[in-house]
Amino acid sequence: MFAPTDDFLSRACAGILLDLGPRPDVAAACAALDAIFALAEQSWQGRRTSLDYIRSAPPVACKAGCGWCCHQQVGITPVEAVGIAAHLDALPADQGGPLKDAVRALDRKTRGLTTAARAQSGLACAFLGPEGSCRIYPVRPLRCRGLHSVDADFCAASYRDPAGMRSLLEQGKLRPVFLSVPEAIFDSALSGVLMASKRLKWAMVSLELTAAVAALLDQPRLTGKWLAGARPDRSLALVA
Ligand code: SF4
Repeated sequence: MFAPTDDFLSRACAGILLDLGPRPDVAAACAALDAIFALAEQSWQGRRTSLDYIRSAPPVACKAGCGWCCHQQVGITPVEAVGIAAHLDALPADQGGPLKDAVRALDRKTRGLTTAARAQSGLACAFLGPEGSCRIYPVRPLRCRGLHSVDADFCAASYRDPAGMRSLLEQGKLRPVFLSVPEAIFDSALSGVLMASKRLKWAMVSLELTAAVAALLDQPRLTGKWLAGARPDRSLALVA
């Protein structure tokens, strides 16, 4: 399905961050992220329930308990990582502590892995719960939000044999099963975050979710530095 990027949404999301001004505090940055997530989710839900879309799109297979897609690298902006670290800090100790431990443990195993090597490792995201649900659902990254599959069997096969499935896709023997409309909507929100980051002189980099959050947990002073425009260490970057 044709899925144009949404310039209006990008500009609206950028405006939310730009209203913060340079060097916002963590609470203000988190509130702005919440507003961006809400706007993008509202845009997707509005599109999802439109009659044209219902007629033409296959049903979404994603549901609580299905976490096949949560076994791969996730690209994240520095401000999104700040939001997740703040969320973990705000949780009661008996919830936040184990999640922080899981992030640090996964980071020790995955730091610097390429996208392919990470998928091949079969390691789950540190935030994937034992029951298959995301344990940071309210603050999950925009890239996670945009992924909507219409075929859970395809996702399971991609988890079991990522290299084989990638090869079949590259040869055109399989078709992607992820809906383009939500991907375009959440990518538009992401592009708004990047537009604002450029104006605010924040680093415009794609970080690896686990590495970025682990760095913020272990070095809390990085939060203020990133929100003031400091460039995150290269070791935190997503490796293609
Ligand atoms: S952050 Fe949540 S939705 Fe994203 S990969 Fe991890 S468990 Fe899955």
